[in-house]
Amino acid sequence: MKRHAIIPIFIPHQGCPNDCALCNQRLVTARSAAPSAPEMAAAMDAWLSTLTNPRPPVIEVALYGGSFTGLPRDQQARYLQIALSYKQQGLVDRIRLSTRPDYIDEDILLFLKGFQVDVIELGAQSFDQEVLRLSNRGHDSAAIYQSSRLIRRFGFTLGLQLMVGLPGDSYEKALFSAREAVFCRPAMARLYPTVILEGTDLSRRYKEGLYRPFSQEEMLRATKDMYRILTGAGIQIIRVGLKSSDLVRNDGQGVLGNSFHPAFRQLVEGELAKEDLEEQLLSLLSRRKTQAPSLCPSSPSSFSPLSDSSGKAGGKKQIGRVRFLCHPRSFSNMLGNKGRNRAYFQNRYPFLTFRFQTDSSMKPGLYRALME
Ligand code: SF4
Repeated sequence: MKRHAIIPIFIPHQGCPNDCALCNQRLVTARSAAPSAPEMAAAMDAWLSTLTNPRPPVIEVALYGGSFTGLPRDQQARYLQIALSYKQQGLVDRIRLSTRPDYIDEDILLFLKGFQVDVIELGAQSFDQEVLRLSNRGHDSAAIYQSSRLIRRFGFTLGLQLMVGLPGDSYEKALFSAREAVFCRPAMARLYPTVILEGTDLSRRYKEGLYRPFSQEEMLRATKDMYRILTGAGIQIIRVGLKSSDLVRNDGQGVLGNSFHPAFRQLVEGELAKEDLEEQLLSLLSRRKTQAPSLCPSSPSSFSPLSDSSGKAGGKKQIGRVRFLCHPRSFSNMLGNKGRNRAYFQNRYPFLTFRFQTDSSMKPGLYRALME
């Protein structure tokens, strides 16, 4: 059963005065009009009709697209009034919206409190001043700290969105952003690899050779380590990577470079699973080496693909069996995208036989290696 359902209401941000390098909202706004109040109610009814038998314990209506609190007050009020009436009837449990850090102040938060908004997500994108400047974000990192503090002080649940690989970004800066995000104490975070959308200023810079995107490997490494920092601090990661949609299609049309992967979250979580399992495996192997030196390669850290315990390339001599375990929900991550983790372990440790199994008693996201 679905435990948490979100009814997304997409409101293209007409009149956003900003011009972020990554943004395609001008194109979106030109193509799709903001819904009228009756259209929003009809969209919510349509979603709710699919969320029966049984009803998920938590249903949220989420006002996405652009920066909600930058819309004229009367327009915000029209949308929020509908969301509130559904909440008061018990049809939805929470109201969520997303906005920019510099579109938050005490007056705005009091206004949102009046409509019983629960969750505010801030598009922080980066905590590095240079990255914010080169991306034309139009606000500095102080705005993120300050608005995060205010949002929490007013009793809203805070979410932060971070982007990876914006102009001027680096692995170190990305990790710095993740650490600063922890400092802001959000309950949840989203990690978005920068996707170069056709028609944005970023796409122009890319075509003119003024912007070098992260490679897939760089993106994966940075996002994975940011994920670890955030989850290590108890922050829930509610999204990794853009969803394929009309704007970013599964086949990558409308996207430049190699900047979109439809299964990026699985790539990241699969990589984390691989790292966790390999760390345990190496520790098991070094323990075994201490107990029975003749059974193991001389140094676990110097294992190389296609070398066996005798050190001969291409050898197939098996010296042990290993079981990798996880909760059923994490099984595809344990195998890795297109089975890449399975292939990795088999190639890197040809002297071991691997079995990948599920264990319902384990917590999702945790992995265990056992040697038989
Ligand atoms: S603030 Fe948001 S909607 Fe406005 S230009 Fe920047 S990314 Fe686009």
